[in-house]
Amino acid sequence: MSPTPPPVDTTIDGLRARLDAERSAGRTVALVPTMGSLHEGHLALVDRAAALADVVVVSIFVNPLQFGPTEDFDRYPRDLTADLAALTGHGAAAVFAPTVAEMYPRGPIETRVSAGEVGTMLDGASRPGHFDGMLTVVAKLLLIAAPHVAVFGEKDAQQVFLVQRMVADLDVPTRIEVVPTVRAADGLALSSRNAYLSGSERAAALALPRSLEAARAAADAGDGLPAALEAALAVLDAEPQLELDYIAVVDPASFQPAEPDHVGPARALVAARVGTTRLIDTALLQLR
Ligand code: AMP
Repeated sequence: MSPTPPPVDTTIDGLRARLDAERSAGRTVALVPTMGSLHEGHLALVDRAAALADVVVVSIFVNPLQFGPTEDFDRYPRDLTADLAALTGHGAAAVFAPTVAEMYPRGPIETRVSAGEVGTMLDGASRPGHFDGMLTVVAKLLLIAAPHVAVFGEKDAQQVFLVQRMVADLDVPTRIEVVPTVRAADGLALSSRNAYLSGSERAAALALPRSLEAARAAADAGDGLPAALEAALAVLDAEPQLELDYIAVVDPASFQPAEPDHVGPARALVAARVGTTRLIDTALLQLR
């Protein structure tokens, strides 16, 4: 028998009823929040979730609250049929795919989670309000699904930091699990937004992972943080089709910029525009 796609719940009550029944039967629940347009990166999260809990729910919701007025909310790729086909055979027990009206029935939401100062840095500086909107919908999803564990991708490292801090600050009884970035064979981090790239833009986008590789090589050689940043910048500057937003190295414990003499683990983060597409990538460095 060929595996069938997971059932879809479009209402909060429907999902809660399904998961209440599972929990009553003693089963644990994992949540994988996504915006759909699923690729192998998302599926790695689903596979991890299936290894950690009995019942995996994948949410698919393009959250208007985390898009700025000039961003790609309207054109963000949406294809539930393709997503269900992609999930088939990956052990997801259900998909939660609510409408915007189901998630925000009273119109623009007045109560929001604040991502604080870190939420205004890096991606938050380029995308004002993005992280408040992201944390607000993640909080709602955690309250709706009440999962034992929720699984996120390292690619969105600032998101991971903020979700982990929210869960700690608000005593949310969900463990946060992080899965390494899944990349195409040429090194580009898989992203739903890669679908926007033309052939030449996709080639230019490779400067992102290559800049991080250059930073890592400098760090591994013991050259220190300023040299690692310089090596990354040289790669990015050499790509004329790429408009750099930021390249930064932060202390993973605080997400504040790492000091020039920082020793130990440090997270490099890069964001750039290629054509109209904004891409991000990240790597962990070991500075010595
Ligand atoms: P998105 O649908 O882009 O909101 O992503 C949903 C989840 O998938 C987030 O936790 C992302 O960090 C994660 N994710 C996206 N791309 C990748 C990737 N290439 N590798 C691993 N996780 C990813």
